[in-house]
Amino acid sequence: MDASPTAAARRAAAIARHLAGLPPGAAAAVAGLHFSPCLSYAPPESSEAPPAFAPMELRALLDGHHLRERDWAYGAMEESPLFCPRRAGDKVFVSPDYNEGKEGQREATMRRIGYLARRGVFRGWLTEPGPDAELRKLALLECLGVYDHSLAIKVGVHFFLWGGAVKFLGTKRHHDKWLLDTENYIIKGCFAMTELGHGSNVRGIETVATYDSKTGEFVINTPCESAQKYWIGGAANHATHTIVFAQLHINGRNEGVHAFIAQIRDQDENVLPNIHIADCGHKIGLNGVDNGRIWFNNIRVPRENLLNLVADVLPDGKYVSMIDNPDQRFAAFLSPLTLGRVNIAVNAVYISKVGLAIAVRYALSRRAFSITPDGPEMLLLDYPSHQRRLLPLLAKVCMMSSASNFMKICM
Ligand SMILES: Cc1cc2nc3c(=O)[nH]c(=O)nc-3n(C[C@H](O)[C@H](O)[C@H](O)COP(=O)(O)OP(=O)(O)OC[C@H]3O[C@@H](n4cnc5c(N)ncnc54)[C@H](O)[C@@H]3O)c2cc1C
Repeated sequence: MDASPTAAARRAAAIARHLAGLPPGAAAAVAGLHFSPCLSYAPPESSEAPPAFAPMELRALLDGHHLRERDWAYGAMEESPLFCPRRAGDKVFVSPDYNEGKEGQREATMRRIGYLARRGVFRGWLTEPGPDAELRKLALLECLGVYDHSLAIKVGVHFFLWGGAVKFLGTKRHHDKWLLDTENYIIKGCFAMTELGHGSNVRGIETVATYDSKTGEFVINTPCESAQKYWIGGAANHATHTIVFAQLHINGRNEGVHAFIAQIRDQDENVLPNIHIADCGHKIGLNGVDNGRIWFNNIRVPRENLLNLVADVLPDGKYVSMIDNPDQRFAAFLSPLTLGRVNIAVNAVYISKVGLAIAVRYALSRRAFSITPDGPEMLLLDYPSHQRRLLPLLAKVCMMSSASNFMKICM
């Protein structure tokens, strides 16, 4: 920062000019917060020369794939009052109402998901095979994240965590029973891995699933307070089913962490017996997602509810797996879930783009101080200090955009 007396004097003179330049009565008007026509917004397009490149080509480069499908999804959002569209000139702006309370935001998210499901946005997300279907799904999820991160996370938990676990950790019996109803949002899934006592260290979780060979069921239990499932997206209000991660006990032996399907609510959203659910409450963001805590009191699920791609339990209680090494088994078990983490990273890039678009456009419309006597006030973006803050971030987000597209293709 230039701290020389000359620079300070120059800035002080600029402030003095600014204050002295106010027309008579304007200071009182500003103090009284009356409307001033001088404050009318001038979008950058009206003052800036057209870009020296084709914006649509840059957009194609940054989005990378499924541009037509993305535009269709944005169009579907703009067409519905659920997305609060506002027209300004030839543009339609949509945005959630973050002044809504927690419950209002949660219900709005649910209504938006219902609308998008009816419009066919989720068609094929779990039932259509192939890399093109996978990338299309990611593109559409990114559009939802541009609108509202709560919407993308709520959809992501249902389709990528619950649905992804059923699809990639389960086998045909699970696919036949759950995938279509999941895709049609008839059942609402959540994903209960994290516990109060263990987050990153998944292998340390304390929930127990004990096999009962007499009935052919698993008995799932929360043995202590630190084993309560914590932060579970969808658990507080809406989820009807969950993936439960638990230590699998058979005949007194611990076979390690496995994933099971359990129903936690009926279709009328009543919590089932022996399940206790509490709300994680208001958060600093993502209030459209109902994160909750879950306790299981010896609930029973059929043997078939074990997601058995990597390991299975036979009716007599024999444990079988094609991978003998428990470390490798655990890695094989968790690897299909990496896509969910990639989504979060890619969505963060899109949110950075939204934030930077707002900041750069503001800096290209807001003026502050003139640098010559009686000269026009300068755009914020013409100040080097402003450029130094925004432009490296703009460059960084472009690079991260390419990197995230590369990551998606590698998955
Ligand atoms: C909004 C929200 C929604 C969520 N939704 C779900 C959900 O739907 N389902 C679900 O199962 N979970 C969910 N989670 C939980 C999330 O997966 C965990 O928060 C995450 O795994 C981290 O666990 P933790 O919070 O217990 O942190 P910890 O694991 O206790 O980590 C605490 C800190 O220590 C650091 N740390 C941990 N281990 C190491 C290490 N080996 N080396 C260096 N640093 C380390 C971490 O980076 C972190 O900064 C959600 C969390 C949030 C905040």
